[in-house]
Amino acid sequence: MASVDDLIKAIKQNSSNRQSSHRLPIIANLRKSNHNVDLDMIRLAYDFAEQAHQGQARKSGEPYIEHPLQTAITLAKMGLDQDTIIAGLLHDVPEDTKFNLVDVEKNFGPEVANLVAGITKLGIIKYRGIEKYAENLRKMFISMAQDIRIILIKMADRLHNLKTLKYLPPEKQKRIAQESLEIYASIANRLGMGQIKGEIEDLAFPYVLPEEYRWMKEEILPKIELKMEHVEQVIKTIRKELAKNRIQIVSIHGRPKRLYSLYKKLIKPHYNRDVSKIYDLVATRIIVTSVADCYKVLGILHQLWKPLPGRIKDYIAQPKPNGYQSLHTTIFGPEGKIVELQIRTNKMHEQAEYGIAAHWHYKEWDKKNKKIAGKGYTPPEKLKWIQDLVNWQKEIQDSQQYLTSLTVDVFKNRIFVLTPKGDVIDLPEEATPVDFAYHVHTYIGDHCSGSRINGQIASLDTVLKNGDVVEIITDKNRKAPSRDWLKFAKTQAARGKIRNRARNH
Ligand code: MN
Repeated sequence: MASVDDLIKAIKQNSSNRQSSHRLPIIANLRKSNHNVDLDMIRLAYDFAEQAHQGQARKSGEPYIEHPLQTAITLAKMGLDQDTIIAGLLHDVPEDTKFNLVDVEKNFGPEVANLVAGITKLGIIKYRGIEKYAENLRKMFISMAQDIRIILIKMADRLHNLKTLKYLPPEKQKRIAQESLEIYASIANRLGMGQIKGEIEDLAFPYVLPEEYRWMKEEILPKIELKMEHVEQVIKTIRKELAKNRIQIVSIHGRPKRLYSLYKKLIKPHYNRDVSKIYDLVATRIIVTSVADCYKVLGILHQLWKPLPGRIKDYIAQPKPNGYQSLHTTIFGPEGKIVELQIRTNKMHEQAEYGIAAHWHYKEWDKKNKKIAGKGYTPPEKLKWIQDLVNWQKEIQDSQQYLTSLTVDVFKNRIFVLTPKGDVIDLPEEATPVDFAYHVHTYIGDHCSGSRINGQIASLDTVLKNGDVVEIITDKNRKAPSRDWLKFAKTQAARGKIRNRARNH
């Protein structure tokens, strides 16, 4: 393995090389995460991707390599492992270049090839803005990714696409932005990735709701800025007070609420667009080293300023379903101005920002900072949504193994197939075109005579697979369903109707 310093030296010496400066940021980010990353391999992947995309340009006019590079940088910042970063660099290679998955596997191994294949596969899913299908789509997205890292790469990929959305035609902008809000941000939220969720939402917001975005920017943003100044004063006082009490502070900072999440709150009936009712416009975030200190800080600050009744929330004892942990309180601060305080440990902070991706940090961090890690902290054992498939710490020792094993067993008994229009239908495992037909409409079920799966004619007893595009061929002269269908129909709905109608004829 190359030492990072050696590599940086080599690159600096070779600074006449046009690409070198490009590579520096990703390497700089790798230094921050404590992982055993073989930088020679990263460099190889970069060179491979750059060659593969040679001559291609993004809509922005930039060389194409900028996109996979930015994707990989995001992944490196999240502290992800080498294979994920390499897959980030190569994620568009099979689809857009003359190189294929075999080339990827030959050069970078089956693990990377598997990640890249997963991303390519997810690429077919599109959301057309029909809300009733959104939930199925989210589930399908997750279930099609055999490895949760595939989803993290998709997130990083989408983040950069959103950042360069302005170069696309307006209809495309709107579709992608809406899909980002309803599918990507929603999944990021469920995986506890607050940072990515917030970024995706704020990037998509102006394209999905341009008028509302303008209102927020013109009317609300200045108020946030004003509040920020006030919070700076509060922070000074807190710093002094905690020093007096010998509390070790990792960081205290003001966190302005993200525009889109603030907007969503404002339009709720209770707030009725009245920003003065919102107390966490800018929250004061206090990060300390142990759980015990979290509670101590809460006590100290409540002695200093009176808390608002009913607003103390202990998400440490009772984490949110997505794993979020923190103490929240709202106080009458200096000059009687109301301020929300959020108190948490460093680890809880990482978890809140990076969610599932933070798992890597924990492991490394624990080893190096045994003392700092603090007692009493339990990583969220249960992400409610994917509860059944995870037994966080018990089963899996190695963090990487953890994520690879996080396939989506919750959906083990379900498959997700698509109509030719791209709507997602949720069916039990081993379902057949007959089940699909009855799911779409009873008439279609009763009159189905054949099917096309992924464009190929298929018999009605064919077992459907995740991601299949299914089309039903109907025969309007058909009198009734066939009893034989009961041999392979899986859903209760289809079986009931077949039994019923076949009997009457
Ligand atoms: Mn891409």
